[in-house]
Amino acid sequence: MRLDTPTLLLVTVIVTFMVGTLFLLSWGQDRRARSLAIWGVAHIAGAVASGLLALRGVIPDAVSVGVANTVMIGAYGLIWSGVRAFEGRPLRLGLALSGGALWGCLCLVPEFYGSLAARVILASAVAGTFCAACAYEIWRGRGEALVSRYPAMILLGAYGLVYYVRIPLALLTPLPTNQNLMQSAWLAILCFAGMLFTVAIAFTFMALTKERVERVQRQAAETDPLTGVASRRALVAGAEALLADPARPVTLLLFDLDHFKSINDAHGHMVGDGVLVGFCCIVQALLPPGALFGRMGGEEFACVLPGRDVEGALRHAGLIRAAVARLSVPSLPALSVSVSIGAAGAPATGRDLDALLRRADAALYRAKRNGRNRIEVSPALLAA
Ligand code: GH3
Ligand code: MG
Ligand code: MG
Repeated sequence: MRLDTPTLLLVTVIVTFMVGTLFLLSWGQDRRARSLAIWGVAHIAGAVASGLLALRGVIPDAVSVGVANTVMIGAYGLIWSGVRAFEGRPLRLGLALSGGALWGCLCLVPEFYGSLAARVILASAVAGTFCAACAYEIWRGRGEALVSRYPAMILLGAYGLVYYVRIPLALLTPLPTNQNLMQSAWLAILCFAGMLFTVAIAFTFMALTKERVERVQRQAAETDPLTGVASRRALVAGAEALLADPARPVTLLLFDLDHFKSINDAHGHMVGDGVLVGFCCIVQALLPPGALFGRMGGEEFACVLPGRDVEGALRHAGLIRAAVARLSVPSLPALSVSVSIGAAGAPATGRDLDALLRRADAALYRAKRNGRNRIEVSPALLAA
């Protein structure tokens, strides 16, 4: 296979420019994603730099060498800034552009400009360090589970390594002179690797951005926006998963705040909202680990307690009922809060969530009818 450097450079210019434009178009769809804008500018700068490099011999060397590499190193710095923006950290644009600026300024020193090895070594060290720094930033953000983090880290780490390997090579192997630079095999390989890297990193950055959007949407669908507890959808999915294992006894508690409409009427909707949030804090503090708790809608909540201990489930329900009844707000002495609870246990067979909810709801209805601020238990659970 023959890698023709001018052809590769031309393809690199076109591909990099297209990738940059795609980043900018994606940013246009969501202006909050600053990383897309920075990656877009970085790629377009990279395309310009590749174009100037390709014009070696046609335009003055000061431009095809000095300006082109300064812009190219700056583009790597911008990629790093984009990754920092993606991770929600300060961009540090000054530092990002300082590598290119340093290389460009040193070109004004004849000893540096005259030594191809020195130019290659500094450019490789700076670009390699930016790639490694990108991989590090992505690793630091691993608390946010995005699958594409790993290919992005490997890709950036490997490309950084390519640049570092180039440093001893620049010292060990004689570098081609100005005239036959375009025929040099290692320049062709570097161009080829650069083009592959541009395409691959664009895919992974796009994938990271898309995964984040999906993750945020999934979390929003699974979380109740007011109280932060699980939404009905997430609770039902979790409960169905627990019920699917017949060896696992499950107790369902249904909660309904008492006379909640009166709380809203007497103190206002905001206080009502505050009571809902406070109620959730109390419940979450008192539930055992492994319990699923969520908002069914309005002032109704549910909890699925996996485990053998029916007595334990009722003990937790009792603690919650008592704690809610003690809830008081000093600035609102007239505020009185209580909760009614219906409990039902899943039988060993026919573990259907709808049926379980109906039985817990019937028990809750009895708790309301028998005076509220109390727990009633489905007869089937008592038998168990
Ligand atoms: P009961 O003891 O029989 O349960 O009486 P209740 O007043 O609690 O029940 P009802 O179903 O009559 O009223 C529920 C009220 O909950 C009506 C509705 O305006 C209020 N509500 C539902 N969702 C919210 C919310 O997100 N915030 C606030 N502040 N109020 C809500
Ligand atoms: Mg209700
Ligand atoms: Mg109610």
